[in-house]
Amino acid sequence: MTYIDLRSDTVTKPTAEMRRAMAEAEVGDDVYREDPTVNRLEKLSAEMAGKQAALFVPTGTMANNIGIKVNTRHGEEVICEAHSHILDWELSMTAWFSGCLVRSVETADGILRWKAIERAIRRGGANNSQTACIEVENTHNMAGGTVYPLDVLAEIYNKARESGIRVHMDGARIFNAAAALNVSAAEIASHCDTVMFCLSKGLGAPAGSILAGSETDIAQARLYRKRLGGGMRQSGVLAAAGIISLEKMTARLPEDHAHAALLAQRLSAVPGFEVTPPQTNIVRIGIAGTGLTASDVLPRLKAEGVLLSSIDSTTLRAVTHLDVTREDCERAASVVDSLMSSVH
Ligand SMILES: *Cc1c(COP(=O)(O)O)cnc(C)c1O
Repeated sequence: MTYIDLRSDTVTKPTAEMRRAMAEAEVGDDVYREDPTVNRLEKLSAEMAGKQAALFVPTGTMANNIGIKVNTRHGEEVICEAHSHILDWELSMTAWFSGCLVRSVETADGILRWKAIERAIRRGGANNSQTACIEVENTHNMAGGTVYPLDVLAEIYNKARESGIRVHMDGARIFNAAAALNVSAAEIASHCDTVMFCLSKGLGAPAGSILAGSETDIAQARLYRKRLGGGMRQSGVLAAAGIISLEKMTARLPEDHAHAALLAQRLSAVPGFEVTPPQTNIVRIGIAGTGLTASDVLPRLKAEGVLLSSIDSTTLRAVTHLDVTREDCERAASVVDSLMSSVH
């Protein structure tokens, strides 16, 4: 069976152009910094992030954790939103690797605001630890691809700097945020010290993420990457795909956003569904009103050729990407619609 796979944008496959570029990539030993394709990707990434330097790493998880590491010291605290990727999906690495306590702040929409952050800040001293870093996730995955307004980010970064606190951005989907706001990724990332973004996911590369920041931070980051076993040698084969992700695939993200909007609009007509209009490519679908749970619904949809994921027992998640067309989204919505009317 061929599936319409809306579980995540991680399922995208490299395009024919990427595969050609990978086959033809000029390579060398990147640990000696002799891989010309990796060097080109890192230079392009730094430019697009508006930072001095960038580092190519195997995964977004590694980029986040090295990013947090260079912004903190053991025994300090990191503030993040309560449903952040670093808190929920990275196996406690902030504690394990950076030796920091995560202090999380609950929000309705995944977006931290300075007022709420301020209450969570610890100023150090005889009885308090010190907040070293604020982590912002943009777009926010679990909240449904929500985007930080630029003025909210600017306030966080300005106030953080006044307090001597660093800001790390988990920009796994920063290019989706940029497309939604119609600004450059550099403009968004001007409001943080370090930023990570994924070349895989919606940008289609088979693997790889970038950490960008100052020369000093990225020089440190390069050492941590080696320590973690992320020195990848002839990784130009992967970087070649990443260059196409940045040069070509970022421009088509509005298409995914339009597909998500269409899907949300169609699904909001299903009785008992509660669908928040998406800002980017992630649709959250509340199904509590149907009396069914995700584990009732997901296997039945799968049997009909549609794959969705769940956030919790009464919230489904659909993510649009490169490998689903408008017709796929329409078909998926029809499948969901007829399944739900058949169970009632
Ligand atoms: C996917 C994702 C990551 C981690 O990326 P991996 O490459 O899967 O390790 C980090 N943050 C967010 C918000 C993500 O969606």
